[in-house]
Amino acid sequence: MQKPMEPEIYDLLRESVRDFVSRDVLPVASKVDQTDEFPLDLFKKMGKLGFLGVTVPEQYGGSGMDYRAQAIIEEELGYASASLALSYGAHSNLCLDNIYRNGSEFLRENYVPKLASGEWVGSLGLTEPSSGSDALAMKSRAEIKGDHYILSGSKTFITNAPYADLVLTYARTGDEFTAFAVPTNLDGFTRGKKFDKMGMRGSPTGEIFFDSIKLGKEMVVGKAGQGKSIILSGLNSERVILSFIFVGVSKRALELALKYSTERKQSGKFLHEFQLIEEKLAYMYTRYQTSKLLAERALDNLDRGTFDSLGAAAAIMHASETSEYIAREAIQILGGIGYVKDSEVERLLRDAILGQIGAGTTEIRKHLIASALVKKYKREDKIPNL
Ligand SMILES: Cc1cc2nc3c(=O)[nH]c(=O)nc-3n(C[C@H](O)[C@H](O)[C@H](O)COP(=O)(O)OP(=O)(O)OC[C@H]3O[C@@H](n4cnc5c(N)ncnc54)[C@H](O)[C@@H]3O)c2cc1C
Repeated sequence: MQKPMEPEIYDLLRESVRDFVSRDVLPVASKVDQTDEFPLDLFKKMGKLGFLGVTVPEQYGGSGMDYRAQAIIEEELGYASASLALSYGAHSNLCLDNIYRNGSEFLRENYVPKLASGEWVGSLGLTEPSSGSDALAMKSRAEIKGDHYILSGSKTFITNAPYADLVLTYARTGDEFTAFAVPTNLDGFTRGKKFDKMGMRGSPTGEIFFDSIKLGKEMVVGKAGQGKSIILSGLNSERVILSFIFVGVSKRALELALKYSTERKQSGKFLHEFQLIEEKLAYMYTRYQTSKLLAERALDNLDRGTFDSLGAAAAIMHASETSEYIAREAIQILGGIGYVKDSEVERLLRDAILGQIGAGTTEIRKHLIASALVKKYKREDKIPNL
């Protein structure tokens, strides 16, 4: 657990991310969506600004901050371009932070600085063609042969895969699972297709294949056979951090709806003067705030080092459902102009939908929440945290 920093440090960070977002991201967000091209230049710039390695100590090229700092970056990026925020999350949280926290000194020294600077792009490969929600049914396998492993299998729907230089991935090793850092320039690594998605366009999602890749034992992340605990702790942190993308999407959609309601007149009145529109704005604001508060609470636990899978699942479930609801209501408030292709709210809704699929679906989150509640209730005879 890291000591929290002075509040002014977070304020300064938020200011510098907002500066970057308003100058570099907002002006191109719509084009990134239309062209579906990964903005590699912005990504590299985030490396220079110290955003990519924000949770990693300075000795490994990072900024030496904590998850709160990473969440601030996600929220501000999510506000402007959820797709850039998703690629940032896959690189900085799912791959880089995970390798730093679980990796050996060899991995920290050789790979973390390249990822923190943006010289290398990182991915996390868990999902396979026949195992999505049931991730532990994976078929990828690594056989030990003397002093190295031979890794075979494939992963799909991997964020950043079309550009990745390093993939943190998981494979069966006997009856257990092991995490590996796989540089994509090794023999036997190939990329498949890039998916043409409805939303999160510009965040490249693709397939990867491992054809008998020879990996030295030093490429094991954590200990051999302990991949399951890395998967679970990684998913926990991922859920909390990615929640903030959707908090950012909600804020932007609410802001655009509010602005339009104060500019557009019908029947001699501004839209916000109609009670049915007032009701929408009131619900949108309240749900935006509750999603942010729930995400903040899960973030506190993450930074304290408390493993709270219930809180993490609740945070991302609520933040993603809320962003979809708010983006949909924003389209309704804008009327016809909200439904056209180049309206920002239309993009926000398409991006928001991914929130209910990536990092475990809403259905899986509901199962996690309910089963954790029942377990705690049986043990303590009360509802936790009330
Ligand atoms: C844009 C995008 C980016 C992604 N990025 C990554 C990444 O970087 N790395 C990575 O490893 N993966 C990534 N994924 C994959 C993502 O995690 C999976 O899509 C997700 O976990 C769901 O798996 P699936 O698509 O195979 O759906 P399935 O598991 O086949 O589920 C299909 C439907 O059945 C429901 N369902 C399944 N099992 C149950 C159950 N037990 N109870 C109730 N309902 C159930 C699901 O909720 C869903 O509604 C990404 C996906 C997308 C779309």
